[in-house]
Amino acid sequence: MSPINEILIRDVVAEVLNRLGQGTGSNGSAAPSAAPCDCENKAKPSGGSIRSSRHGVFEDANEACAAAHAGFLELKKKGVAARAKVVEIIKAMAEANAEAWGRIELEETKIGRLDHKIEKLKIIKLVPGVEWLHPDGRSGDHGITLEEYTPFGVVAAITPSTHSVPTLSGNIVNIIAAGNAVVFNPHPSAAKCAALAVRAYNQAIEREVGIENLVTIIERPTLDSFKAICSHEAVRLLCVTGGPAVVKAAMQTGKRAICAGPGNPPVLVDDTACMKRAAKAIIQGAAYDNNLLCIGEKEVFVLDSVADELMVEMEKNGAVRLNAAQLDRLTKEAFTFKEGHGGGCPEPVVNKALIGKDAAVLAKAAGINVPDKTELLFAETDKTHPFVKEEQMMPFVPIVRVKSVEEGIEASLVAEHNYKHTSIIHSHDVEHMTAMARALDTTLFIKNGPCMAGLGLGGEGYLSYSIATPTGEGVTNPRTFARVRRCVMVDNLRIY
Ligand code: NAD
Repeated sequence: MSPINEILIRDVVAEVLNRLGQGTGSNGSAAPSAAPCDCENKAKPSGGSIRSSRHGVFEDANEACAAAHAGFLELKKKGVAARAKVVEIIKAMAEANAEAWGRIELEETKIGRLDHKIEKLKIIKLVPGVEWLHPDGRSGDHGITLEEYTPFGVVAAITPSTHSVPTLSGNIVNIIAAGNAVVFNPHPSAAKCAALAVRAYNQAIEREVGIENLVTIIERPTLDSFKAICSHEAVRLLCVTGGPAVVKAAMQTGKRAICAGPGNPPVLVDDTACMKRAAKAIIQGAAYDNNLLCIGEKEVFVLDSVADELMVEMEKNGAVRLNAAQLDRLTKEAFTFKEGHGGGCPEPVVNKALIGKDAAVLAKAAGINVPDKTELLFAETDKTHPFVKEEQMMPFVPIVRVKSVEEGIEASLVAEHNYKHTSIIHSHDVEHMTAMARALDTTLFIKNGPCMAGLGLGGEGYLSYSIATPTGEGVTNPRTFARVRRCVMVDNLRIY
Protein backbone atom coordinates (compact mmCIF):
# COMPACT_ATOMS: atom_id res chain seq x y z
CA MET A 1 0.00 0.00 0.00
CA SER A 2 1.31 3.52 -0.80
CA PRO A 3 2.17 5.81 2.14
CA ILE A 4 -0.64 8.17 1.10
CA ASN A 5 -3.35 5.49 1.15
CA GLU A 6 -1.95 4.14 4.39
CA ILE A 7 -2.22 7.58 5.95
CA LEU A 8 -5.73 8.19 4.64
CA ILE A 9 -6.93 4.88 6.10
CA ARG A 10 -5.26 5.69 9.42
CA ASP A 11 -6.94 9.09 9.43
CA VAL A 12 -10.37 7.60 8.78
CA VAL A 13 -9.85 5.12 11.63
CA ALA A 14 -8.62 7.89 13.92
CA GLU A 15 -11.59 10.07 13.02
CA VAL A 16 -14.09 7.28 13.74
CA LEU A 17 -12.40 6.62 17.09
CA ASN A 18 -12.43 10.32 17.87
CA ARG A 19 -16.13 10.52 17.16
CA LEU A 20 -16.69 7.53 19.42
CA GLY A 21 -14.93 9.54 22.12
CA GLN A 22 -11.91 7.31 22.33
CA GLY A 23 -9.55 10.26 21.89
CA THR A 24 -7.19 8.71 19.34
CA GLY A 25 -5.58 11.26 17.01
CA SER A 26 -4.34 10.41 13.55
CA ASN A 27 -0.72 10.64 12.47
CA GLY A 28 1.47 12.78 14.61
CA SER A 29 -1.30 14.07 16.86
CA ALA A 30 0.67 13.51 20.04
CA ALA A 31 4.04 14.57 18.72
CA PRO A 32 5.59 17.88 19.77
CA SER A 33 5.27 20.63 17.18
CA ALA A 34 8.79 20.33 15.87
CA ALA A 35 8.64 16.56 15.59
CA PRO A 36 8.00 14.74 12.32
CA CYS A 37 4.31 14.06 11.72
CA ASP A 38 5.21 10.41 12.04
CA CYS A 39 3.33 9.61 8.85
CA GLU A 40 5.39 6.47 8.29
CA ASN A 41 4.46 5.12 11.71
CA LYS A 42 1.29 4.06 13.43
CA ALA A 43 -1.29 6.41 14.96
CA LYS A 44 -0.45 7.77 18.39
CA PRO A 45 -2.82 8.66 21.22
CA SER A 46 -3.63 12.38 21.40
CA GLY A 47 -3.81 12.66 25.14
CA GLY A 48 -7.32 14.06 24.66
CA SER A 49 -6.06 17.58 23.91
CA ILE A 50 -7.39 17.76 20.36
CA ARG A 51 -11.06 18.60 20.10
CA SER A 52 -11.51 18.86 16.35
CA SER A 53 -11.99 15.75 14.26
CA ARG A 54 -11.39 17.46 10.92
CA HIS A 55 -8.06 19.13 11.58
CA GLY A 56 -8.73 21.61 8.80
CA VAL A 57 -9.58 19.13 6.03
CA PHE A 58 -13.06 19.69 4.54
CA GLU A 59 -15.21 18.31 1.75
CA ASP A 60 -17.38 21.39 1.55
CA ALA A 61 -15.99 24.79 0.57
CA ASN A 62 -18.50 26.81 2.59
CA GLU A 63 -17.77 24.78 5.72
CA ALA A 64 -14.03 25.22 5.18
CA CYS A 65 -14.45 29.02 4.88
CA ALA A 66 -16.73 29.23 7.93
CA ALA A 67 -14.33 27.12 10.00
CA ALA A 68 -11.37 29.28 8.93
CA HIS A 69 -13.35 32.37 9.89
CA ALA A 70 -13.96 30.94 13.37
CA GLY A 71 -10.21 30.20 13.53
CA PHE A 72 -9.46 33.81 12.56
CA LEU A 73 -11.67 35.16 15.37
CA GLU A 74 -9.85 32.92 17.86
CA LEU A 75 -6.45 34.08 16.60
CA LYS A 76 -7.55 37.70 16.96
CA LYS A 77 -8.28 37.08 20.65
CA LYS A 78 -4.93 35.42 21.28
CA GLY A 79 -2.78 38.17 19.81
CA VAL A 80 0.60 38.36 18.11
CA ALA A 81 2.21 35.81 20.43
CA ALA A 82 -0.15 33.15 19.08
CA ARG A 83 0.71 34.08 15.49
CA ALA A 84 4.42 33.85 16.30
CA LYS A 85 3.86 30.42 17.85
CA VAL A 86 2.00 29.19 14.76
CA VAL A 87 4.83 30.42 12.53
CA GLU A 88 7.34 28.60 14.73
CA ILE A 89 5.26 25.39 14.53
CA ILE A 90 4.97 25.51 10.72
CA LYS A 91 8.69 26.17 10.20
CA ALA A 92 9.75 23.44 12.61
CA MET A 93 7.32 20.88 11.20
CA ALA A 94 8.17 21.64 7.56
CA GLU A 95 11.82 20.99 8.38
CA ALA A 96 11.22 17.93 10.53
CA ASN A 97 8.86 16.34 7.97
CA ALA A 98 10.74 17.44 4.85
CA GLU A 99 11.94 13.97 3.95
CA ALA A 100 8.60 12.19 4.42
CA TRP A 101 6.44 14.93 2.92
CA GLY A 102 8.84 15.49 0.00
CA ARG A 103 8.64 11.80 -0.82
CA ILE A 104 4.85 11.78 -0.56
CA GLU A 105 4.51 14.84 -2.79
CA LEU A 106 6.77 13.30 -5.43
CA GLU A 107 4.83 10.03 -5.27
CA GLU A 108 1.54 11.85 -5.80
CA THR A 109 2.58 14.37 -8.48
CA LYS A 110 5.32 12.35 -10.20
CA ILE A 111 7.10 15.58 -11.17
CA GLY A 112 10.41 17.01 -9.98
CA ARG A 113 13.28 15.60 -7.92
CA LEU A 114 13.22 14.11 -4.44
CA ASP A 115 16.35 15.93 -3.19
CA HIS A 116 14.85 19.28 -4.14
CA LYS A 117 11.34 18.43 -2.91
CA ILE A 118 12.97 17.82 0.48
CA GLU A 119 15.11 20.93 0.33
CA LYS A 120 12.13 23.14 -0.58
CA LEU A 121 10.50 22.17 2.72
CA LYS A 122 13.64 22.46 4.82
CA ILE A 123 14.03 26.10 3.77
CA ILE A 124 10.54 27.21 4.85
CA LYS A 125 12.41 28.63 7.85
CA LEU A 126 13.64 31.41 5.51
CA VAL A 127 10.10 32.75 4.99
CA PRO A 128 9.60 35.91 7.07
CA GLY A 129 7.17 36.02 10.01
CA VAL A 130 5.68 38.48 12.50
CA GLU A 131 8.96 40.39 12.82
CA TRP A 132 8.12 41.98 9.47
CA LEU A 133 5.15 43.91 10.81
CA HIS A 134 6.85 47.03 12.19
CA PRO A 135 4.38 49.83 12.86
CA ASP A 136 5.20 53.27 11.56
CA GLY A 137 4.93 55.98 14.24
CA ARG A 138 4.87 59.74 13.81
CA SER A 139 4.56 62.56 16.27
CA GLY A 140 4.29 66.31 15.83
CA ASP A 141 2.65 69.46 17.07
CA HIS A 142 -0.77 67.99 16.33
CA GLY A 143 -0.41 64.72 18.21
CA ILE A 144 0.71 61.19 17.46
CA THR A 145 -0.14 58.78 14.68
CA LEU A 146 0.48 55.10 14.38
CA GLU A 147 0.16 53.12 11.17
CA GLU A 148 -0.15 49.43 11.85
CA TYR A 149 -0.50 46.25 9.85
CA THR A 150 -3.83 44.63 10.54
CA PRO A 151 -5.32 41.39 9.16
CA PHE A 152 -7.91 41.01 6.43
CA GLY A 153 -9.66 37.97 7.97
CA VAL A 154 -9.77 34.83 5.86
CA VAL A 155 -7.41 34.59 2.88
CA ALA A 156 -8.12 32.03 0.13
CA ALA A 157 -4.97 30.51 -1.35
CA ILE A 158 -4.68 28.47 -4.56
CA THR A 159 -1.53 26.38 -4.79
CA PRO A 160 0.28 24.82 -7.78
CA SER A 161 1.16 21.21 -8.54
CA THR A 162 4.82 22.13 -8.92
CA HIS A 163 5.42 22.89 -5.21
CA SER A 164 2.28 21.96 -3.34
CA VAL A 165 3.35 21.56 0.31
CA PRO A 166 6.17 24.16 0.08
CA THR A 167 3.81 26.84 -1.33
CA LEU A 168 1.14 25.91 1.19
CA SER A 169 3.61 26.07 4.08
CA GLY A 170 5.16 29.37 2.96
CA ASN A 171 1.70 30.90 2.43
CA ILE A 172 0.61 29.80 5.91
CA VAL A 173 3.65 31.49 7.48
CA ASN A 174 3.05 34.78 5.63
CA ILE A 175 -0.72 34.81 5.98
CA ILE A 176 -0.93 33.83 9.65
CA ALA A 177 1.98 36.08 10.65
CA ALA A 178 -0.23 38.91 9.36
CA GLY A 179 -3.04 37.69 11.64
CA ASN A 180 -5.31 35.99 9.10
CA ALA A 181 -6.69 32.47 8.73
CA VAL A 182 -6.37 30.68 5.40
CA VAL A 183 -8.43 28.31 3.28
CA PHE A 184 -6.68 26.39 0.48
CA ASN A 185 -7.96 25.08 -2.83
CA PRO A 186 -4.90 23.06 -3.87
CA HIS A 187 -4.10 21.67 -7.32
CA PRO A 188 -6.16 18.46 -7.74
CA SER A 189 -3.07 16.45 -8.67
CA ALA A 190 -1.24 17.57 -5.51
CA ALA A 191 -4.15 17.72 -3.08
CA LYS A 192 -3.50 14.62 -0.96
CA CYS A 193 -0.04 15.70 0.16
CA ALA A 194 -1.40 19.19 0.85
CA ALA A 195 -4.27 17.80 2.99
CA LEU A 196 -1.82 15.60 4.85
CA ALA A 197 0.30 18.62 5.80
CA VAL A 198 -2.76 20.72 6.73
CA ARG A 199 -4.02 17.95 9.01
CA ALA A 200 -0.65 17.65 10.75
CA TYR A 201 -0.23 21.44 11.06
CA ASN A 202 -3.70 21.84 12.57
CA GLN A 203 -3.15 19.06 15.06
CA ALA A 204 -0.06 20.85 16.34
CA ILE A 205 -1.73 24.29 16.29
CA GLU A 206 -4.79 22.94 18.13
CA ARG A 207 -2.62 21.30 20.72
CA GLU A 208 -0.15 24.11 21.30
CA VAL A 209 -2.15 27.26 20.56
CA GLY A 210 -5.67 26.00 21.20
CA ILE A 211 -7.16 27.11 17.86
CA GLU A 212 -9.01 24.73 15.57
CA ASN A 213 -9.08 25.07 11.79
CA LEU A 214 -6.83 28.10 11.49
CA VAL A 215 -5.74 26.54 8.20
CA THR A 216 -8.40 24.75 6.17
CA ILE A 217 -8.25 22.91 2.86
CA ILE A 218 -10.65 21.34 0.40
CA GLU A 219 -9.90 17.64 0.29
CA ARG A 220 -11.13 17.17 -3.28
CA PRO A 221 -10.66 20.57 -4.94
CA THR A 222 -12.57 21.47 -8.10
CA LEU A 223 -13.33 24.59 -10.11
CA ASP A 224 -16.65 24.70 -8.24
CA SER A 225 -14.91 24.68 -4.86
CA PHE A 226 -12.66 27.49 -6.18
CA LYS A 227 -15.75 29.51 -7.11
CA ALA A 228 -17.49 28.78 -3.79
CA ILE A 229 -14.42 29.86 -1.81
CA CYS A 230 -13.94 33.00 -3.85
CA SER A 231 -17.56 34.03 -3.38
CA HIS A 232 -17.73 33.25 0.36
CA GLU A 233 -18.33 36.43 2.34
CA ALA A 234 -15.66 35.61 4.97
CA VAL A 235 -12.96 35.45 2.29
CA ARG A 236 -11.51 38.94 1.96
CA LEU A 237 -8.42 38.33 -0.14
CA LEU A 238 -7.16 35.79 -2.68
CA CYS A 239 -3.60 34.58 -3.15
CA VAL A 240 -3.23 32.50 -6.30
CA THR A 241 -0.05 30.78 -7.39
CA GLY A 242 -0.18 29.20 -10.83
CA GLY A 243 -0.41 29.69 -14.58
CA PRO A 244 -2.39 32.14 -16.75
CA ALA A 245 -5.81 30.46 -16.33
CA VAL A 246 -6.00 30.75 -12.55
CA VAL A 247 -4.67 34.32 -12.61
CA LYS A 248 -7.45 35.25 -15.06
CA ALA A 249 -10.08 33.39 -13.00
CA ALA A 250 -8.96 35.11 -9.77
CA MET A 251 -9.09 38.55 -11.34
CA GLN A 252 -12.63 37.92 -12.52
CA THR A 253 -13.96 37.12 -9.04
CA GLY A 254 -14.35 40.73 -7.98
CA LYS A 255 -12.27 40.07 -4.83
CA ARG A 256 -8.83 41.59 -4.36
CA ALA A 257 -6.32 39.06 -5.71
CA ILE A 258 -2.60 38.74 -5.15
CA CYS A 259 -1.50 36.80 -8.22
CA ALA A 260 1.74 34.84 -8.42
CA GLY A 261 1.56 34.11 -12.13
CA PRO A 262 3.54 32.26 -14.78
CA GLY A 263 7.06 33.00 -15.94
CA ASN A 264 9.41 32.03 -18.77
CA PRO A 265 12.71 33.44 -17.50
CA PRO A 266 15.31 34.31 -20.16
CA VAL A 267 19.05 34.36 -19.45
CA LEU A 268 21.41 36.66 -21.34
CA VAL A 269 25.15 35.92 -21.38
CA ASP A 270 27.47 38.58 -22.79
CA ASP A 271 31.18 38.49 -23.61
CA THR A 272 32.24 40.12 -20.33
CA ALA A 273 30.82 37.30 -18.20
CA CYS A 274 32.76 34.47 -16.62
CA MET A 275 31.65 31.49 -18.75
CA LYS A 276 32.53 28.93 -16.11
CA ARG A 277 30.40 30.70 -13.51
CA ALA A 278 27.56 31.35 -15.97
CA ALA A 279 27.48 27.69 -17.05
CA LYS A 280 27.38 26.46 -13.46
CA ALA A 281 24.63 28.92 -12.52
CA ILE A 282 22.50 28.01 -15.55
CA ILE A 283 22.76 24.31 -14.70
CA GLN A 284 22.03 24.88 -11.02
CA GLY A 285 18.92 26.96 -11.72
CA ALA A 286 17.49 25.13 -14.74
CA ALA A 287 18.04 21.66 -13.25
CA TYR A 288 16.46 22.54 -9.90
CA ASP A 289 13.50 20.22 -9.27
CA ASN A 290 13.71 19.39 -13.00
CA ASN A 291 13.04 23.01 -13.94
CA LEU A 292 9.66 23.26 -12.20
CA LEU A 293 10.53 26.61 -10.60
CA CYS A 294 8.65 29.56 -12.08
CA ILE A 295 11.90 31.53 -11.64
CA GLY A 296 14.00 28.77 -13.30
CA GLU A 297 16.20 29.49 -16.31
CA LYS A 298 14.07 28.52 -19.32
CA GLU A 299 16.06 29.81 -22.34
CA VAL A 300 19.55 31.23 -22.85
CA PHE A 301 20.62 33.95 -25.28
CA VAL A 302 24.39 34.17 -25.63
CA LEU A 303 26.68 36.38 -27.67
CA ASP A 304 27.94 34.46 -30.69
CA SER A 305 31.59 35.18 -29.78
CA VAL A 306 31.33 33.28 -26.46
CA ALA A 307 28.57 30.75 -27.25
CA ASP A 308 30.94 27.84 -27.91
CA GLU A 309 32.85 28.51 -24.70
CA LEU A 310 29.64 28.63 -22.67
CA MET A 311 28.44 25.31 -24.10
CA VAL A 312 31.79 23.63 -23.49
CA GLU A 313 31.66 24.81 -19.87
CA MET A 314 28.12 23.46 -19.55
CA GLU A 315 29.32 20.07 -20.80
CA LYS A 316 32.29 20.16 -18.42
CA ASN A 317 29.81 20.67 -15.59
CA GLY A 318 27.70 17.66 -16.50
CA ALA A 319 25.03 19.02 -18.86
CA VAL A 320 24.51 16.94 -22.00
CA ARG A 321 24.33 18.55 -25.45
CA LEU A 322 21.77 17.24 -27.96
CA ASN A 323 22.47 17.37 -31.70
CA ALA A 324 19.96 18.70 -34.20
CA ALA A 325 18.33 15.31 -34.86
CA GLN A 326 18.00 14.56 -31.15
CA LEU A 327 16.53 18.02 -30.53
CA ASP A 328 14.03 17.40 -33.30
CA ARG A 329 12.90 14.10 -31.73
CA LEU A 330 12.61 15.66 -28.28
CA THR A 331 10.63 18.61 -29.64
CA LYS A 332 8.13 16.25 -31.29
CA GLU A 333 7.67 14.43 -27.97
CA ALA A 334 7.60 17.56 -25.82
CA PHE A 335 5.00 19.57 -27.77
CA THR A 336 1.82 19.15 -29.71
CA PHE A 337 0.71 21.92 -32.04
CA LYS A 338 -2.71 23.49 -32.17
CA GLU A 339 -4.18 25.71 -34.86
CA GLY A 340 -3.10 29.35 -34.40
CA HIS A 341 -5.59 32.21 -34.03
CA GLY A 342 -7.35 33.05 -37.32
CA GLY A 343 -5.53 30.26 -39.15
CA GLY A 344 -2.11 31.67 -38.11
CA CYS A 345 1.04 29.64 -37.34
CA PRO A 346 0.40 26.47 -35.28
CA GLU A 347 0.99 27.15 -31.57
CA PRO A 348 3.04 24.77 -29.41
CA VAL A 349 1.39 23.17 -26.38
CA VAL A 350 3.63 21.49 -23.77
CA ASN A 351 3.14 17.73 -23.38
CA LYS A 352 2.27 17.36 -19.69
CA ALA A 353 3.66 13.83 -19.66
CA LEU A 354 7.20 15.23 -19.87
CA ILE A 355 6.82 18.14 -17.41
CA GLY A 356 9.17 17.78 -14.42
CA LYS A 357 10.63 14.47 -15.64
CA ASP A 358 14.31 13.60 -15.18
CA ALA A 359 16.85 14.59 -17.83
CA ALA A 360 17.44 10.87 -18.51
CA VAL A 361 13.76 10.48 -19.45
CA LEU A 362 13.93 13.45 -21.82
CA ALA A 363 17.14 12.05 -23.30
CA LYS A 364 15.37 8.76 -24.03
CA ALA A 365 12.63 10.71 -25.80
CA ALA A 366 15.42 12.38 -27.82
CA GLY A 367 16.81 8.96 -28.76
CA ILE A 368 19.90 8.77 -26.54
CA ASN A 369 20.83 7.25 -23.22
CA VAL A 370 22.52 9.42 -20.60
CA PRO A 371 23.62 8.55 -17.06
CA ASP A 372 20.74 8.73 -14.55
CA LYS A 373 22.54 11.43 -12.60
CA THR A 374 22.48 13.83 -15.60
CA GLU A 375 20.85 17.04 -14.43
CA LEU A 376 20.30 19.02 -17.60
CA LEU A 377 20.15 18.72 -21.38
CA PHE A 378 20.69 21.58 -23.82
CA ALA A 379 20.81 22.20 -27.55
CA GLU A 380 21.24 25.09 -29.92
CA THR A 381 17.98 26.45 -31.30
CA ASP A 382 16.73 29.59 -32.97
CA LYS A 383 14.78 32.18 -31.06
CA THR A 384 11.37 31.09 -32.36
CA HIS A 385 11.77 27.49 -31.20
CA PRO A 386 8.92 26.10 -29.01
CA PHE A 387 11.41 25.48 -26.18
CA VAL A 388 12.18 29.23 -26.23
CA LYS A 389 8.58 30.38 -26.49
CA GLU A 390 6.95 28.01 -24.00
CA GLU A 391 7.41 27.67 -20.24
CA GLN A 392 8.48 24.04 -20.70
CA MET A 393 9.20 23.10 -17.04
CA MET A 394 11.62 20.35 -18.15
CA PRO A 395 15.39 19.97 -17.48
CA PHE A 396 16.25 21.12 -20.99
CA VAL A 397 17.40 24.61 -22.01
CA PRO A 398 17.60 25.95 -25.55
CA ILE A 399 20.73 28.00 -26.29
CA VAL A 400 20.30 30.78 -28.85
CA ARG A 401 23.21 32.69 -30.41
CA VAL A 402 22.75 36.46 -30.73
CA LYS A 403 25.00 38.97 -32.49
CA SER A 404 24.66 41.78 -29.97
CA VAL A 405 23.49 42.54 -26.46
CA GLU A 406 20.66 44.60 -28.01
CA GLU A 407 19.49 41.59 -30.00
CA GLY A 408 19.71 39.42 -26.86
CA ILE A 409 17.65 41.88 -24.83
CA GLU A 410 15.04 42.12 -27.60
CA ALA A 411 14.81 38.31 -27.84
CA SER A 412 14.60 38.02 -24.03
CA LEU A 413 11.74 40.50 -23.99
CA VAL A 414 9.79 38.48 -26.55
CA ALA A 415 10.45 35.18 -24.76
CA GLU A 416 9.38 36.60 -21.38
CA HIS A 417 5.90 37.40 -22.81
CA ASN A 418 5.65 40.51 -20.63
CA TYR A 419 4.86 38.33 -17.61
CA LYS A 420 7.27 40.64 -15.74
CA HIS A 421 8.37 37.64 -13.68
CA THR A 422 12.11 36.86 -13.74
CA SER A 423 15.10 37.56 -15.96
CA ILE A 424 18.78 36.85 -15.54
CA ILE A 425 22.01 38.28 -16.96
CA HIS A 426 25.58 37.05 -16.76
CA SER A 427 27.75 40.10 -17.41
CA HIS A 428 30.32 42.35 -15.82
CA ASP A 429 29.16 45.36 -17.81
CA VAL A 430 26.89 47.54 -15.70
CA GLU A 431 25.41 49.24 -18.76
CA HIS A 432 24.30 45.90 -20.16
CA MET A 433 22.74 45.03 -16.80
CA THR A 434 20.88 48.33 -16.65
CA ALA A 435 19.70 48.07 -20.25
CA MET A 436 18.26 44.61 -19.66
CA ALA A 437 16.69 45.56 -16.33
CA ARG A 438 14.97 48.54 -17.92
CA ALA A 439 13.78 46.69 -21.00
CA LEU A 440 12.40 43.60 -19.27
CA ASP A 441 11.15 45.32 -16.11
CA THR A 442 10.77 41.95 -14.34
CA THR A 443 9.91 41.41 -10.67
CA LEU A 444 13.15 39.48 -10.12
CA PHE A 445 16.31 40.47 -12.00
CA ILE A 446 19.36 38.39 -11.15
CA LYS A 447 22.92 39.16 -12.11
CA ASN A 448 25.71 36.59 -12.17
CA GLY A 449 23.93 33.90 -10.19
CA PRO A 450 21.36 31.12 -10.50
CA CYS A 451 17.66 31.97 -10.32
CA MET A 452 17.31 30.94 -6.67
CA ALA A 453 19.66 33.75 -5.63
CA GLY A 454 16.59 35.91 -6.26
CA LEU A 455 14.78 34.21 -3.37
CA GLY A 456 17.54 34.57 -0.78
CA LEU A 457 19.25 31.27 -1.61
CA GLY A 458 22.81 32.31 -2.37
CA GLY A 459 21.75 35.95 -2.79
CA GLU A 460 20.56 38.48 -0.20
CA GLY A 461 16.85 38.43 0.47
CA TYR A 462 14.08 36.26 1.86
CA LEU A 463 12.06 33.32 0.60
CA SER A 464 8.52 32.93 -0.65
CA TYR A 465 7.12 30.45 -3.15
CA SER A 466 4.53 32.99 -4.29
CA ILE A 467 6.02 35.83 -6.31
CA ALA A 468 3.22 38.20 -7.14
CA THR A 469 3.98 39.27 -10.67
CA PRO A 470 0.94 40.60 -12.62
CA THR A 471 -0.51 42.28 -9.50
CA GLY A 472 2.85 43.77 -8.47
CA GLU A 473 3.32 42.83 -4.79
CA GLY A 474 6.58 41.04 -5.63
CA VAL A 475 8.04 38.34 -3.40
CA THR A 476 5.16 37.92 -0.94
CA ASN A 477 5.76 38.44 2.79
CA PRO A 478 3.55 39.05 5.84
CA ARG A 479 2.95 42.69 4.87
CA THR A 480 1.46 41.53 1.57
CA PHE A 481 -1.42 39.98 3.53
CA ALA A 482 -2.11 42.90 5.85
CA ARG A 483 -4.15 46.07 5.66
CA VAL A 484 -2.58 49.33 6.80
CA ARG A 485 -4.62 51.11 9.45
CA ARG A 486 -3.86 54.55 10.86
CA CYS A 487 -4.69 55.45 14.48
CA VAL A 488 -4.47 59.14 15.30
CA MET A 489 -4.53 60.94 18.66
CA VAL A 490 -4.91 64.69 18.32
CA ASP A 491 -3.15 67.48 20.28
CA ASN A 492 -1.37 67.75 23.62
CA LEU A 493 -0.14 64.19 23.64
CA ARG A 494 3.57 64.80 23.28
CA ILE A 495 5.58 65.26 26.40
CA TYR A 496 8.15 67.55 24.78
P1 NAD B 1 -1.84 25.59 -12.94
O1 NAD B 1 -2.13 26.97 -13.45
O2 NAD B 1 -2.23 24.43 -13.75
O3 NAD B 1 -2.53 25.41 -11.50
C1 NAD B 1 -2.30 26.30 -10.44
C2 NAD B 1 -3.52 26.30 -9.53
O4 NAD B 1 -4.59 26.96 -10.19
C3 NAD B 1 -4.05 24.90 -9.20
O5 NAD B 1 -4.53 24.88 -7.88
C4 NAD B 1 -5.18 24.72 -10.20
O6 NAD B 1 -6.13 23.79 -9.74
C5 NAD B 1 -5.73 26.12 -10.26
N1 NAD B 1 -6.42 26.47 -11.50
C6 NAD B 1 -5.97 26.30 -12.76
N2 NAD B 1 -6.87 26.82 -13.63
C7 NAD B 1 -7.88 27.32 -12.90
C8 NAD B 1 -9.10 28.00 -13.21
N3 NAD B 1 -9.47 28.26 -14.48
N4 NAD B 1 -9.91 28.38 -12.19
C9 NAD B 1 -9.56 28.14 -10.92
N5 NAD B 1 -8.43 27.51 -10.55
C10 NAD B 1 -7.59 27.10 -11.54
O7 NAD B 1 -0.28 25.59 -12.64
P2 NAD B 1 0.67 24.41 -12.15
O8 NAD B 1 1.04 23.57 -13.30
O9 NAD B 1 0.14 23.80 -10.95
O10 NAD B 1 1.93 25.31 -11.75
C11 NAD B 1 2.81 25.82 -12.69
C12 NAD B 1 2.49 27.24 -13.09
O11 NAD B 1 2.45 28.09 -11.94
C13 NAD B 1 3.57 27.81 -13.98
O12 NAD B 1 2.98 28.65 -14.94
C14 NAD B 1 4.45 28.59 -13.01
O13 NAD B 1 5.19 29.62 -13.60
C15 NAD B 1 3.40 29.14 -12.09
N6 NAD B 1 3.97 29.41 -10.77
C16 NAD B 1 4.16 30.71 -10.41
C17 NAD B 1 4.72 30.99 -9.19
C18 NAD B 1 4.97 32.41 -8.76
O14 NAD B 1 5.38 32.60 -7.62
N7 NAD B 1 4.75 33.41 -9.59
C19 NAD B 1 5.09 29.98 -8.31
C20 NAD B 1 4.88 28.65 -8.70
C21 NAD B 1 4.31 28.39 -9.95
